[in-house]
Amino acid sequence: MPELPEVAAIADYVDGRAAGLPIRRVDVASLSVLKTADPPYTALAGRIVESVGRIGKYLVIRTVPGSEATASEPMIAMVVHLSRAGWVRWSEDLSPKPLRPGGKSPIALRVHCGLPGEGFDVTEAGTQKRLAVWLVRDPAEIDRVAGLGPDALELTEERLAEILASTTGRIKNVLTDQRVIAGIGNAYSDEILHTARLSPFASSKTLKPDQVSALYDAMRTVLTDASSRLEGQEVARLKSEKRIGLRVHARTGLPCPVCGDAIREVSFADRSFQYCPTCQTGGKVLADRRMSRLLK
Ligand SMILES: [Zn+2]
Repeated sequence: MPELPEVAAIADYVDGRAAGLPIRRVDVASLSVLKTADPPYTALAGRIVESVGRIGKYLVIRTVPGSEATASEPMIAMVVHLSRAGWVRWSEDLSPKPLRPGGKSPIALRVHCGLPGEGFDVTEAGTQKRLAVWLVRDPAEIDRVAGLGPDALELTEERLAEILASTTGRIKNVLTDQRVIAGIGNAYSDEILHTARLSPFASSKTLKPDQVSALYDAMRTVLTDASSRLEGQEVARLKSEKRIGLRVHARTGLPCPVCGDAIREVSFADRSFQYCPTCQTGGKVLADRRMSRLLK
């Protein structure tokens, strides 16, 4: 799942290519990804991509009227939530043919902009369709965007301490709750907790001041390191670059790069997370429902 560093890198990459270009046409293969009907997606044709940025884990493509437009919306933003399996692919070789609706292709939406053949696809792999695209005059019109917590990279340590003191729950869940802090998902929360030497099951409310400091430093270090490593990379390379930088996430059974202990995992029905017992839980192995079921 793309998180803050990947969404920032995608935004940066597409911004570098698409900003200033006219949108020639938008094709939608799967109408179910569109969460809004007004303005219609056809209204994007003829507009100019002003910028591509992000809010939390949402990609925000802002468009302004083209020079030939007379009465037109001053701003239409395409907001994309890539969810778990969504991605963006820039191409200079797009087919001019319309997308075939309902086909097996992972392409959900295609934006032709700039020269013929140029543009980008928003794709979604797999059968679970969770990708979401909104067309709005202001991203704040989207409840999920308006309800986002402060951006993980814009938090101060004091603000983080306040947030943690006012939330109940396990730190792993608090870090990944977008309404509390925006931008962090399953992979980087594993990395942040490992760097901060905190158990994923620690209660957010009872962290000591030195633990909050460690968490804050880890959050900034992990996210800025990942962002600078991914910056300027081809979008196609981002997933493998992300994987290379991970120290515990998705590395079950491999040695911890800090202490050499075997990395453990806790599994749920549709996801799992990883941690190092020696670095994070005083050597304690956390209960794992799947593992305990297997051992019965
Ligand atoms: Zn370790």
